[in-house]
This record gives sequence, C-alpha cells and structure tokens, in this order.
Amino acid sequence: MIVGILKEIKHQENRVAMTPAGVEIMVANGHSVLVEKNAGAASGFDDESYAGAGARLVGNPADIFADAEMVMHVKEPQPSEYDLIREDQIVFTYFHFAAYEQLTHAFIRTRGIALAYETIEDNNGGLPLLIPMSEVAGRMAVQEAARYLERTHGGRGILLGGVTGVPPARVLVLGGGTVGTNAALMACGLGAQVDLIDTRLDRLRYLSATMPKNCVPIMSSPAIIRQKVSEADVIIGAVLLPGAKTPKLITREMVKTMKTGSVIVDVAIDQGGCIETSRPTTHDDPVYEIDGVLHYCVSNMPGAVPMTSTIALTNATLPYALAIASNGLLEAVREFPEMQKGLNIVRGHVTCKGVAEAFDLDY
Ligand code: NAD
Repeated sequence: MIVGILKEIKHQENRVAMTPAGVEIMVANGHSVLVEKNAGAASGFDDESYAGAGARLVGNPADIFADAEMVMHVKEPQPSEYDLIREDQIVFTYFHFAAYEQLTHAFIRTRGIALAYETIEDNNGGLPLLIPMSEVAGRMAVQEAARYLERTHGGRGILLGGVTGVPPARVLVLGGGTVGTNAALMACGLGAQVDLIDTRLDRLRYLSATMPKNCVPIMSSPAIIRQKVSEADVIIGAVLLPGAKTPKLITREMVKTMKTGSVIVDVAIDQGGCIETSRPTTHDDPVYEIDGVLHYCVSNMPGAVPMTSTIALTNATLPYALAIASNGLLEAVREFPEMQKGLNIVRGHVTCKGVAEAFDLDY
C-alpha cells in the first residue's frame, strides 16, 4: 500500500504521525511511504532520517493526497485539505468530529474513510490511541506544577519534595485513571505527599496495592474533596466521565480556601475541566491567577513535548497502520476488532453514533 505522512498544519501542533523507525518497519513490510518534506522537523526528525528509513519525500501535500491510499495525520484535516481527500481514501488521525461540524460535513462530502484514533475502543472500554497522550499529560502535569510552585514563576516558593527536615508539598489528584495515576507516580517520585481520589472502589483497591507509600488512594466525596483542597499546594484535575460533561468537583468557594501561590493543573480542561475556575489556555500563555491560585489549563499539553509524544503515538498507531497496509481495512478490522469503533465516516455515511447524534445526522 502507498501510505502518506503529512506535515501538521494546525497551530502549535509539533507532532508527526510516524517516526522514521515506524517508516522503516512499513517499508520492510513492502509498503511505500510518502513523507511530506519537513513533516518531522518539530519532533526532531529531519528529512534525511526519513529518506534513510526508505521514505520518499514529497514537497506538496496535494501530491500525497493524490497518490496515497491511506494518509496519516495527528490532528484533524484542516479546511485547505478538505478538497484533497479522495473517495475511498483512508484518513487515519485524531478527528474529534463531534467538536467540528464543518469538518464533519466536509468529510461526508469527500466519500473518504475516516478512521479516528480517539474512538478506537477495546472490549474493556480502553482507548488505546488516547492512553499514550494521557500518560504524557499526566507526567507533564507534575513538571508544570513544580515549575509554577516556584516563586520566580509566581508560586508559593516551595519544592515539591521538600528537603531533609522540611516537609514536602501536598498534591491532590482528582481521578485515578491514566492521567491521574501517571501524575501521582511522578509527584511521588519527586517526594511529594499525594492524595489520589477516585469514585471506583475496585480502582482504589488496585491503586492501594500498586502505588508508592507516599500516595494515599481515597474514595471521592464532596466532603473529602473540600477538606483536601484546603490542604493542597497542588491540585491536578484528571477526571473523566466517558461520553458526559466533566463534573465540576471543585467550586470557586473551595478554591478560595487554598493557600496563596498554590497551583491548579486542570488536565481535564479539554473536556470542560473539573474545577469551576478553570478555562482553557494555550502554550503561548499557559497560566492565569484567580484568588491567588495559579491555574495551568492547556488543552493540548502533549504538543509541548513533541519528541516524546510522537514516539509514544507511533508506538500505539503503527500496529493498526501496518495491518491496514498489509491486509486491507476489512481484514485489519477482523484482526483488531477495536478498530470497528474507530470508523466514524465511511464513503459518505456516518458510522459513529456519537458523531451522528452531535449533528442530528443519519447513522
Ligand atoms: P480515565 O478514564 O483513564 O480516568 C478518569 C478517572 O476519573 C477514572 O478513573 C474515573 O473513575 C475518575 N472519576 C470519574 N468521576 C470522578 C469523581 N467524581 N471523583 C473522582 N474521580 C472520578 O481518563 P484519562 O485518560 O486519565 O483522562 C482524564 C482527562 O484528561 C480527560 O478529560 C482527558 O480528555 C484529559 N486529557 C487532557 C490532555 C491535555 O492535553 N489537557 C491530554 C490527555 C488527556
């Protein structure tokens, strides 16, 4: 199969859909890979490394859309690309159609095949192509919290781990899923005292058995959250209710009880955030202050660490891309049944319930 790797054109998107190591594997399996010139530059992969892996470098994205049977992106296609997508062409990327009505209608018109990273879902409800980015965001949340706790960045001026004779910072993590567990692990590693809150008793049992001793998994309730918020130097929001709006677990009144210079990192901001005072920010201007508390609410955190994120993403997408290229889409779906839910729009028909419901379309 001819597979195309496009340069990202969405603002502040520095990742690329496939590393040179991934290209090498595709080529070794008999496939042709077209890579847009400079596609990997912001992730630290130059054109030479792609050429060395066996890719053919192409200057114009239109030529990739014209030749490739499957094109891969990181973010959703942008308006300048809509008319380049061909009938029957597979587009494999994060789409988030429900958030983009214009894109949804445009893709229906192309009669292409939209295979969305974010809706590939295994039997246990796991989202294998979202997990790597949640791992990145969870780990990064603690780095950002540590930075903004520093006095020079407007924070309280304390070290997460403390030092001999000086107590560590107290970190409250809301949500013990992928983001929350990764954040808690990083904070524990730095020596902070961590409270990790979740609603699921089975998850708390697992966390109690596996997390370090300076992490205390606790059952979620308004009373415990109220108490822990007032004690925390750092709060990390990592709650998700699949398919529903994120609940606001921390009210503005609770934020007022926090110490001046404390830090909130609301990772769940891409789904609305779990703190009443959160609003989305960007890497250009990531932090604002309310009631003396710094808020970091960047909705695409992995974009700041494109080298790590690109490799993590390729690790997760490559087996699917390889199966499609080697055996065709139908056979690949038989091999990886979780891909079925990734099919959002096929040849003009919406095949994902959530997308159809978002815009009242036939399904
Ligand atoms: P996840 O499903 O793995 O974990 C969510 C956890 O929240 C679950 O364990 C669930 O039981 C728990 N939860 C639900 N209601 C709760 C409540 N009332 N109190 C305490 N816990 C509760 O999800 P995830 O992959 O960890 O993602 C978390 C959020 O981070 C999502 O909104 C996701 O979109 C977001 N995210 C943001 C970025 C970014 O760049 N900002 C990157 C990746 C993920």
